[in-house]
Amino acid sequence: MNRILIFIEQTENRRILAEWLGRSYEVVVGESAVQAGKAVPLLNEPFDLCILDGPALHHSWEWVQARKQAEQPVFLPVLLITLHSDVKLLTRHLWQTVDELISKPIEKLELQARVEMLLRSRRLSLKLQAALEQERELKELKSRFVSMVSHEFRNPLNIISGFTRLLEQHDLPSERRTDFSQRIQAAVKSMTALLDDVLAFGKVETSALADNATVLAIEPFCRKLIEEIKVGMGSNHTFQVDCEDECFTVRVNEALLRQVLTNLLSNAIKYSAPQSTVRLKFQCQAEVAIFQVQDEGIGISPTDQVRLFESFYRASNVGKIPGTGLGLAIVKQVVEQAGGTISVSSEVNVGTTFTVILPIGK
Ligand code: ATP
Ligand code: MG
Repeated sequence: MNRILIFIEQTENRRILAEWLGRSYEVVVGESAVQAGKAVPLLNEPFDLCILDGPALHHSWEWVQARKQAEQPVFLPVLLITLHSDVKLLTRHLWQTVDELISKPIEKLELQARVEMLLRSRRLSLKLQAALEQERELKELKSRFVSMVSHEFRNPLNIISGFTRLLEQHDLPSERRTDFSQRIQAAVKSMTALLDDVLAFGKVETSALADNATVLAIEPFCRKLIEEIKVGMGSNHTFQVDCEDECFTVRVNEALLRQVLTNLLSNAIKYSAPQSTVRLKFQCQAEVAIFQVQDEGIGISPTDQVRLFESFYRASNVGKIPGTGLGLAIVKQVVEQAGGTISVSSEVNVGTTFTVILPIGK
């Protein structure tokens, strides 16, 4: 329901107006607003139209102007009730505050018509603002999506570049050659899948990452993934994979797991010294799989841990290590879309452990 604020000095007029308008609108009577110092309690109340008379406008035009200003670009209408003979007394700044006039004696029907017209302009203006806001949000979503896609392109590109380098070795046995070219093809395939997501932009939230669980042999999957990441990043870290027996096969979404682990493992490599150890641990519980990636790297301070999953946020101790600050934000988004959680525990200069808990299908 539209809310109308009335500032009328003359008591009887105020009462009649409030009664007329009170039948169709929510009416707030600003008795105190015309008396300096007492206006404060009303100042923050929202309203859709302000109706005032000459004396009230004279006292509170600055406040009215400030309220109009604060609502911009949304239109906040002000209707002035005045004597026909007083119209010429209105000064320029008062004119600028008022959007419509009605002269006394007031005709009930005319008042209603003017109130309705002003409220309609207000509603249109609010609608326009909401549409603009939606447009802005969509633009932001698009640019976030573009950043995310470009970020996720880097991993398969690294794999292609790494394995192409390895293929150049002369004395490569033919089975190794076949294996390397298969990995390059797999990386190209994952880039194509990503492109399909870009083309189906609107469907990104429900993309293949969220569904399509398959039965996956965890340990071989991880070893292969680690090798690809090592080649892609040129890393000489030592990797340890701890996998509980029951975890041997799990029903999970392979693309999602690949995306999550690739980001966490490449962070572990990037933020720890060459030749240090990176551990990948799996546990299965009744309905969830728990994945942990642990490193012996630079660690993350408690202050930075709070904001770590925000897009583009990077901790203060990254120094010259390159990065965009998007990986963890993407990981958090896809993990939560799949009904899982991600958490971090870390100590500066000791190491970091990321724990991902994912629901697993039966
Ligand atoms: P990119 O977008 O290329 O992945 P990034 O690695 O900087 O860049 P995130 O993966 O989102 O971005 O990580 C955010 C920040 O969290 C990093 O900049 C780094 O400060 C910190 N961080 C993440 N993982 C680790 C880790 N294993 N050890 C120490 N700091 C880490
Ligand atoms: Mg990263």
